[in-house]
Amino acid sequence: MIPLVKPFMAPAAEMMPALEKILYSGYIAEGQAVYDFEAAFRSFFGNPRMLALHSGTDALHLALILAGVGPGDEVISTAMTAEPTNVAIAMTGAKVVWGDVDPATGLLSPDSVRSLITGKTRAIMLVHYAGMVCDLREFDRISAETGIPLIEDAAHALGSRFAGKFIGNNAPYTVFSLQAIKHMTTVDGGFLAVKSDADLERARRLRWFGLDKAKPRLENDITEVGYKYAMNNVNAAIGLVQMRHLRAILDRHQANGKFYDNAFRGVPGVTCVPYYPETEPSYWLYTMLVERREDFCRALNDRGIVASPLHLRSDRHSIFSYARRKLEGLDQFYSNFVHLPCGWWVGDEEREQVVDAVKKGW
Ligand SMILES: *Cc1c(COP(=O)(O)O)cnc(C)c1O
Repeated sequence: MIPLVKPFMAPAAEMMPALEKILYSGYIAEGQAVYDFEAAFRSFFGNPRMLALHSGTDALHLALILAGVGPGDEVISTAMTAEPTNVAIAMTGAKVVWGDVDPATGLLSPDSVRSLITGKTRAIMLVHYAGMVCDLREFDRISAETGIPLIEDAAHALGSRFAGKFIGNNAPYTVFSLQAIKHMTTVDGGFLAVKSDADLERARRLRWFGLDKAKPRLENDITEVGYKYAMNNVNAAIGLVQMRHLRAILDRHQANGKFYDNAFRGVPGVTCVPYYPETEPSYWLYTMLVERREDFCRALNDRGIVASPLHLRSDRHSIFSYARRKLEGLDQFYSNFVHLPCGWWVGDEEREQVVDAVKKGW
């Protein structure tokens, strides 16, 4: 079977010496390996203000705190995402308000978001689902007009671009995940990208109990509750080796995605997803709409390919029952969308196999 997701791990000959060295170095907590990994990540993505954290969920939580989100506030978000996005909002005590999605893309609709803004709206949470990029031109306009900050959950969008730049350079807060099945993994890990020095310094303290690491421990004063969200040297040492392969991983995801975009155009029963102006997806998963999805998935499975949706829509969870509302765009997208394998493990032969399997019909 060609799987939908697969953790990438650099060859043992490269990884094991680096891992062994750090494990027995006498310094496995946050230290130089983390700072070296941050430097490599920042220079790759072009934003000098990025902090390594223990997970993407930690990055989401800190982004919300930096945006000023707290109890009683509202955050407009999407149900078309993985669980961490909206659970992180719940962690702050704020209420989720479900924006509807564009039924053609499954991504948050700017018009829907605009109609939901109230005096309590403290942030807009965008999810670049499966690596597709939201309509950032419109969302930037909404944010500029209202002063409400955007948080971009880019857990699926490492290497995606907007207006020629990597995601991570647009909104005041962008979140990446280095969890097992994302484009690049450090086993677990995350990054928070910010745009101001003030946010960077505050996040640096918040990731370590509120302590200022630049000062000696005995001279520190915690003035704001922080968390234990820092990355450790072990995950960072893994990340430094993984980084050597990042360009190749992203290239393969994107080449496969573009190959499918061309191959599936005009295939009966398939509707391709359009991409918004100035956006370039990084195709974490390949996404499209199909008629009679169950039959489609069964047929593809019989032909050796995993094809399926991946996440339960977040508005189905009991903790968000207070926020339930009619989401027509999401209902439409959710019943027809499907993912196909498109990552680094899909070679030239496998992608031909996928295209043939779809074209055979179901
Ligand atoms: C994976 C993921 C995250 C963060 O997850 P961690 O496992 O905490 O790194 C956040 N949002 C989305 C949409 C995700 O898929």
